[in-house]
Amino acid sequence: MTEVHAGETLGRFCEYHHRTPATATCALCAKATCDVCTRAVNAAALCMGCAVGRATQTSWLAAAFSLLLPGAGQVYNGQFGKAVTVFLLAPLAAPWLWGVYDAAVTADRIAAGDVTAATVPTGGVLLGLKIVWLPVAVFYVVLSSLAVTALMAGVGALLR
Ligand SMILES: [Zn+2]
Ligand SMILES: [Zn+2]
Repeated sequence: MTEVHAGETLGRFCEYHHRTPATATCALCAKATCDVCTRAVNAAALCMGCAVGRATQTSWLAAAFSLLLPGAGQVYNGQFGKAVTVFLLAPLAAPWLWGVYDAAVTADRIAAGDVTAATVPTGGVLLGLKIVWLPVAVFYVVLSSLAVTALMAGVGALLR
């Protein structure tokens, strides 16, 4: 889980535990941390402080966001320009589906540490997405149940 840079932090002690030798350096603030204080986020070792509100990018979450709200997966990945493009082209259906695929693939690449250009979403962005996502999900459930009801009524009328 955590990256250990043997030798690199030799002689340094954990920022949080002053008697414990450090085994990693935070990728964001360069604090020395021990095994207990190191958090792995998107293949990078972070200190406890920097890891707050940050989580490893997951492809299923990116896909789920994109599936219900075109471009939401791109927002999750920190690609805001792409998000707007996908959202505007979504009525054509194909860009929407491509957006789902792209969000999942990009999330995996961010998690693996291959993509560093994308902004790692802070807790605020993730929380905002989850809050927006819920009413959209409810809307789709209501819409599809209405469609099924209408379909059943139509079939019933035809059979009569
Ligand atoms: Zn840090
Ligand atoms: Zn520690």
